[in-house]
Amino acid sequence: MRDRADRRSASVARFSIERRRACRWLLVPAAQSLASTFAWADAGRIASARLWPAQEYTRLILEAPQAIAHQLTALKDPPRIVLDLAGVELTPELAQLPSRVQPSDPYIAAIRFGRKTADVLRVVIDLRTDVRSELFAVAPVAEYGHRVVLDLYPLTPVDPLAALLEEIKAAEARAASDNERSTAARGGGKASRRIIVALDPGHGGEDPGAVGPRGTYEKHVVLAIAKRLKARLDAGNGMRAMLTRDDDYFVPLADRVARARRAHADLFVSIHADAFREARARGSSVFALSEHGATSAAARWLAQRENAADLIGGVNLDGRDPVLARTLLDLSQTAQISDSLKVGRHVLREIGGHNTLHKAIVEQAGFAVLKAPDIPSILVETAFISNPDEELKLRSDKHQARFAESIAVGVKSYFAQNPPLARAASSTG
Ligand SMILES: [Zn+2]
Repeated sequence: MRDRADRRSASVARFSIERRRACRWLLVPAAQSLASTFAWADAGRIASARLWPAQEYTRLILEAPQAIAHQLTALKDPPRIVLDLAGVELTPELAQLPSRVQPSDPYIAAIRFGRKTADVLRVVIDLRTDVRSELFAVAPVAEYGHRVVLDLYPLTPVDPLAALLEEIKAAEARAASDNERSTAARGGGKASRRIIVALDPGHGGEDPGAVGPRGTYEKHVVLAIAKRLKARLDAGNGMRAMLTRDDDYFVPLADRVARARRAHADLFVSIHADAFREARARGSSVFALSEHGATSAAARWLAQRENAADLIGGVNLDGRDPVLARTLLDLSQTAQISDSLKVGRHVLREIGGHNTLHKAIVEQAGFAVLKAPDIPSILVETAFISNPDEELKLRSDKHQARFAESIAVGVKSYFAQNPPLARAASSTG
């Protein structure tokens, strides 16, 4: 059910996104490009309205060529949100919004329109339950216009890590008591514990990542590969993988790092499939963080693109914790980078057995998502989605499984040579 619903939402979203990407990718027939030009020419018109439903939060985005004057009122009994838009007409694009509400949306039941005054369009969002809402504007970036973003969160936040954290705690308690017993019996012993690997499928929701010549979205293929990789790592006894996102919604870069740290991850693997300016560019690459500069112009270019994810996906800067952001940036990361390069080499070697390598060394650049000060972190560019051959590979079940397999083998061989330390928490109880 969920899958079918996701596909529906993807197809609903596709037109808007492809239209915006038309200039860069020259994918869309000329007639469609023209249509979008006309839509953009009118001020006061909503050019695109998108919905990204997910358990963690549902996001509504209205996009226009000019800033939209807006006002939000939350009402109870029944719970609903009223969004008043000044000087906005009910265009066909906006009028379609109610049909985009999915039966599976956890928070939105329906959307209706009315007129507050002759000049103010009223959008009424009927809710399934009381929510905490966040409303903010995002200035134009890349091919995106002015966006108004409304996020609806449950009153009790969904914690995707809760189950994992409980499981880790239970496993460590078991390991500690086993260890006590074996220590008593043999007069020695070493605590063994599960290795936690954070898997980070890039992009998601409003941020599609790169788009291939056949219209394949990076966000979809990297999620598919990450899920396969998680299943592969979870299958053994020694490891437990967690995903920083498990569905098609946007997660800010700092949140991805924060989730891995909360799970006490021993390794962070960000998974991508990016595009380059030239369609010929091909091959897999592995990156670690660089504190100063990048190892190549291409690595720098790619890091800049990846770091723009927050701007593309839309982050409410009011809600950010600047202290946390500073801590992540200021700590010296020498040890982390040295470990990241090590694990990167293991993964690169395995991927090289499956796909051409873009570069035979682990490259480095200032990727924001690799900045956890205490977790070795790598970013794997599985292949270039901009290369027609590699796009086909990324779409195929067989190759997705092979990418996952080679990353899994690389990760395991790294930990076989570099076992993680016993956790302080487990030895002190
Ligand atoms: Zn990417």
